Amino acid sequence: MITVIGSLNMDLVVQMNAFPKQGETILGNSFQTVPGGKGANQAVAAARLGSEVAMVGCLGNDHFGETLHAALQQEQIQTDALVKSTTAPTGIANILIYNNDNRIVVVPGANYDLSISHLEASKDLIQKSHLVMIQLEIPKETTAHAIQLCKEAGVPVLLNPAPAANFDVQWMEDITYLTPNETECAEIFNEPVEQVLEKYPNKLIVTLGSDGSRYFDGSYPIHVPGYMTTAVDTTGAGDTFNGALAYALVEGQSLDEAVYFANIAASLSVEKLGAQGGMPLLGAVYARMA
Ligand code: ADP
Repeated sequence: MITVIGSLNMDLVVQMNAFPKQGETILGNSFQTVPGGKGANQAVAAARLGSEVAMVGCLGNDHFGETLHAALQQEQIQTDALVKSTTAPTGIANILIYNNDNRIVVVPGANYDLSISHLEASKDLIQKSHLVMIQLEIPKETTAHAIQLCKEAGVPVLLNPAPAANFDVQWMEDITYLTPNETECAEIFNEPVEQVLEKYPNKLIVTLGSDGSRYFDGSYPIHVPGYMTTAVDTTGAGDTFNGALAYALVEGQSLDEAVYFANIAASLSVEKLGAQGGMPLLGAVYARMA
């Protein structure tokens, strides 16, 4: 069982022919609501591959909350540990798209109401998990507490440090895997990638977009190349990578095998539109590996 402790957002996506200028009102071309949030995305990525997944997160008491809850259930994700904020609305991301460019405003809303006491209420679930997956779109003290609960019970933690500003380097001691992309890695460690990888063997895995990913195995730097493909939409590539890495590790794969598997899964995700839209089923990943 993988437990994801993290965010759920409704993405409000508007396609347009130009961005509005200050004070201007324009007409957009299309509007879509799509389930998102890094927590929910990574939960869906692991569940699609066949993991048993439970989600701990906070929704608003509103229509978006109900829709996101139902969307997780449709992916066979356990939702018993989802809670509702009494004050804040469900988190949203307002996404304006024009000409391969985007402007995004995220309002965390209920995600920032996920508290230590909520985690305590789900302590049994968290501590009996085979792996806990965390991102940083929830309050920092909640993340710190989640790590402590896992440490107490010897549960491995896979932490995807996005947004990087919410990461605390002290957590490196207690987590099992950290999976920043290159930008996040630079922001957190402020050192060249090669140098910092050597400090955290078999723990720090840096994703490099189409170049794949890298880590240090204790003796040698390991570069797992990305699978060459034509990207249609790279939104959610990192989320797919993390969900797939979690799946593979819980299945008992070695880190080397798991990182290779995650690269292949993420390469499939970039071939389709949307974060969750491109997340592959297990058969598709094995077909590409064959
Ligand atoms: P994020 O989406 O968090 O910014 P990356 O851009 O590093 O993270 O992508 C995560 C993973 O997705 C990479 O390690 C790689 O496996 C895969 N990936 C991303 N972009 C591409 C691409 N254009 N072609 C193939 N694989 C990709």
